[in-house]
Amino acid sequence: MRPWGAAERRALRSRLRDTAEPWDLVVVGAGITGAGIARDAAMRGLSVLVLEAADVAFGTSSRSTRLVHGGVRYLEQGELGLVYEALRERARLYQSAPHLVHATRFLFPAYRGDRLGPWKLRLGLTLYDTLNFHRGEPHEYLTPEAARMAEPLLAEAGLRGAVAYEDAVTDDARLTLAVVLDARRHGAEVLTYAPVVAIEATAAPARHRVLLDDGTAVAAHAVVVAAGPWSSATLLGARGNDLLTLSKGTHLVVRARDVPVRQPLVVQVPREKRILFVVPWGSRTYLGTTDAAYEGDPGKSGVTADDEREILELVRPVLPTARLDAAAIVSAWSGVRPLVRAEGARSTAEVSRKHRIVERDDGVLAIVGGKLTTYRQMAEEIVDRVVARVEQAWPAEHARAQPCTTATVPLVVGEPEPSAPDDDQEHATLVSELASRHGPIARAMAAAADAAGRARIIADLPYRWCEVDHAIGFEGAVHAIDVVRRRLPLVLTDAQQGATAIVEIATRLVDAAGGSARDIDDELERWRAEVAIETGRTPTIPR
Ligand SMILES: Cc1cc2nc3c(=O)[nH]c(=O)nc-3n(C[C@H](O)[C@H](O)[C@H](O)COP(=O)(O)OP(=O)(O)OC[C@H]3O[C@@H](n4cnc5c(N)ncnc54)[C@H](O)[C@@H]3O)c2cc1C
Repeated sequence: MRPWGAAERRALRSRLRDTAEPWDLVVVGAGITGAGIARDAAMRGLSVLVLEAADVAFGTSSRSTRLVHGGVRYLEQGELGLVYEALRERARLYQSAPHLVHATRFLFPAYRGDRLGPWKLRLGLTLYDTLNFHRGEPHEYLTPEAARMAEPLLAEAGLRGAVAYEDAVTDDARLTLAVVLDARRHGAEVLTYAPVVAIEATAAPARHRVLLDDGTAVAAHAVVVAAGPWSSATLLGARGNDLLTLSKGTHLVVRARDVPVRQPLVVQVPREKRILFVVPWGSRTYLGTTDAAYEGDPGKSGVTADDEREILELVRPVLPTARLDAAAIVSAWSGVRPLVRAEGARSTAEVSRKHRIVERDDGVLAIVGGKLTTYRQMAEEIVDRVVARVEQAWPAEHARAQPCTTATVPLVVGEPEPSAPDDDQEHATLVSELASRHGPIARAMAAAADAAGRARIIADLPYRWCEVDHAIGFEGAVHAIDVVRRRLPLVLTDAQQGATAIVEIATRLVDAAGGSARDIDDELERWRAEVAIETGRTPTIPR
């Protein structure tokens, strides 16, 4: 594994300050889109630098519903092309990152008065199966009795039937991280906490100069802005005006024992063309999402009491015996969808999820919209354009760029080794829990960990202390919040948002970077502030 800690970060910063040689490609933003572009371009042989204002997956890519899916909902909007593309990419992700993308049976019930009755659902899912000729189980129709056998929590009154169909669940932040790590493995460099403040046109040899907030200037033959909901006029000039419609989506986390669904459920929203999901997540269940127009900083969309009320009220009629009150909420998150603006849409839910590539007059490219699921396809399209212009800047003797190989080369190399015959139960559990987040390196991580490293960070959650050290040394975590929010989802799954562990995590991180006690206080304050903004719950700094 290529180390990625404080020393590597310092070395890259000074390299950027000291060298004027242009990069083939500078990518602005390390969400799933920027990560996919960096990986693809690096695999084709380009020199690639990613500049990220905050942490990997800080934006929408750690705030989604965490599904790798074709999007049954888009069928109703006639978006067959989008669904086809997403199902094809889903099939590729099953192969490419099997430890992070899990095929699951979803249950989609129909109640009396619902917009989509059993026949419409069957028709829609038949189309879904037809568009998915890559892999997966076909859908199945369930009578009301069979639906309640499959999910005893479903309300009985008014139930007309259900369809069970396949889609996949993932960990969005770790999927993004996996793409970034593989981009680095192929030679890309990634600098986080490095906001780009301007992109200027320059004369040869480079075409662009990218300016960071500390005054560093980076030369590049090509620049792609992949700043998601931040893709505004600041980065794109006139092309950024009126480019996006922002839509906020909130999710709530409850304890699994309070909402013990057996599989992900789809809940229809009355009188609107939109659905919600109720998704089991280990010892937790999460519910969401809302879909409402949003203005403001996409990093501070937050969760309000109204968001909470809306979700609880929509889900309650379908799961009447579940505990769905405000006191049951353990945590929450919200994200902002960067939707390509469309005239005539009556609500944000009706705006297409298709992506779009735009170009500034000086040749800076940007890509917006799309889905977590379709990131690879989006990257391939834009890197094709990047390659064409970068090759023009190369001298004749320079080797040509390779063709795109991301459709077939897996994101993670190797399979997590199956448990060994002499593993005791405890070791087998450790390896399988680590494998669900780290894939093939799980067995090596387990073997290297001492008793303290193997211990759980919080008793009812599967995360281990050795993962904290791994995040600091090999996964580019700069701040304690990066560890407890995006390397491990403690902020979302723990009722205290990671408070019991945060001092130790901040101390390890600051020690590794050679910092002082004051830095630990800064880390705790940053964690407290970010958690308060994101979850709507202000944790107490433990002393
Ligand atoms: C509520 C919700 C639910 C969703 N559910 C799903 C789902 O289940 N499945 C699915 O496939 N898709 C889903 N999506 C869509 C998906 O999450 C997004 O399409 C995707 O994450 C967008 O990724 P991105 O990289 O384009 O943007 P982002 O992830 O927002 O990344 C942009 C990055 O750019 C950085 N940046 C911004 N400005 C600068 C700057 N000046 N300099 C440097 N860096 C900068 C930001 O810090 C950020 O990290 C959902 C979206 C939302 C909001």
